[in-house]
Amino acid sequence: MPKPHIPLEEIRAQVEGCRRCPLADGRTQTVFGVGNPSARVLIVGEAPGKNEDLQGEPFVGAAGKYLNELLAIAGLRREDVFIANVLKCRPPGNRDPRPEEIELCTPYLREQTRTIDPEFIVTLGNFSTKFILKTEIGITRLHGTLQRAGRFKVFPIFHPAAALYDGSKREALENDFATLGQLLRESDAAAASAQSGGAAAAPAGPGTVGASATPAGAGAGAAQTEPRPDPASHVEQPHLL
Ligand code: URA
Repeated sequence: MPKPHIPLEEIRAQVEGCRRCPLADGRTQTVFGVGNPSARVLIVGEAPGKNEDLQGEPFVGAAGKYLNELLAIAGLRREDVFIANVLKCRPPGNRDPRPEEIELCTPYLREQTRTIDPEFIVTLGNFSTKFILKTEIGITRLHGTLQRAGRFKVFPIFHPAAALYDGSKREALENDFATLGQLLRESDAAAASAQSGGAAAAPAGPGTVGASATPAGAGAGAAQTEPRPDPASHVEQPHLL
């Protein structure tokens, strides 16, 4: 029998009281996540930064402003999606999350994902992509390819902050968000057609699109220098269920 889903407010209360790791000592507040509790798209970033720690909301700094613009490219508003992070507390000086912090914190993300039950999980950057897909393949190779973790479609994209430091990543980020919009529209069309009994062209499914879900001509990003893997063959067992 499947486990019952924990209500989001209950998970939030657990996060607010969490003292599982030393990041609890340095936080102003936890950053649970924000958005539509039954969103079709769950966006997963890395960890709160200074502004997020102060305001208690993910992606409110410069990367957040850019994320809002990127969501618009996919035809989404911030309030349509749910935005969360791998870590719920700010690492000091915005250092990278440590493996033990990820291990202790991600049960919350796993429960959020089960409760929200999105169609798509968009992983931003290496930490969320590696956790959700349980892979060691980096974001440079995986971005813009449609993957799967259990019943969830997973679409890895560069972290918006990466493009703020390295402008050459902007094109890839913007193309990938355009592709996300296309995947959402294709999925809508397939669902509408199935409902009317029609035989629609099937949307590109995870692992069926060759090296990339990026439509021909939309351009794989300029940052891609390595060959891209066949999505179906490289990613290991799903981490989330
Ligand atoms: N970067 C992230 O990964 N998450 C945030 O909430 C803010 C910046």
